[in-house]
Amino acid sequence: MDLDKVIRKVPDFPKPGILFYDITSIFTNPEAFRYVIDKMISLYKDEQVDGIISIESRGFLVGACFAYKNGLPLVLARKKGKLPGKTVSQSYLLEYGSATLEIHEADLIPGKKWLIIDDLIATGGTLEAVAGMIERVGANIAGIFSIIGLPFLNYDERIGKYNPKTLINYYSE
Ligand code: AMP
Repeated sequence: MDLDKVIRKVPDFPKPGILFYDITSIFTNPEAFRYVIDKMISLYKDEQVDGIISIESRGFLVGACFAYKNGLPLVLARKKGKLPGKTVSQSYLLEYGSATLEIHEADLIPGKKWLIIDDLIATGGTLEAVAGMIERVGANIAGIFSIIGLPFLNYDERIGKYNPKTLINYYSE
């Protein structure tokens, strides 16, 4: 499967200078969607993963498939103000703008190993923020998975220690 052919690239979205890698074109292609999910599952078949943390919003789609397929708890990292219970929260900088993510504190069981899932790693700021929340409550990180990586934005400096895995990388914009 040539994922590069499937992923829609949109220049200057959501602002000038950003090349947006749009994974909705994976979800509309059943063969590509199945490939991505099966490949992700196989990457972790020999690793201890006790639960999934998926990041709003595109990370939800991929993370939910992992949790369903492997029978694991699925925890949502949501944008500020969406979760009704007591949360841990972390603000961070994006490739474009800034944001705050929250997780229900009671869902993050200390001692368990969580796999964090999003659609794309750019600067790694989003995943670093989520990893920080997990560690703050005494839970552990099994790894990080994203469909797409943009390693030229040096995300390894922030999250390399969590062993990020991707299915396709782009080395320039
Ligand atoms: P970052 O925190 O810089 O790693 O940004 C990752 C988050 O922003 C992910 O949730 C992506 O969905 C989104 N994102 C950042 N840059 C892009 C891009 N060039 N194309 C598509 N999504 C992006």
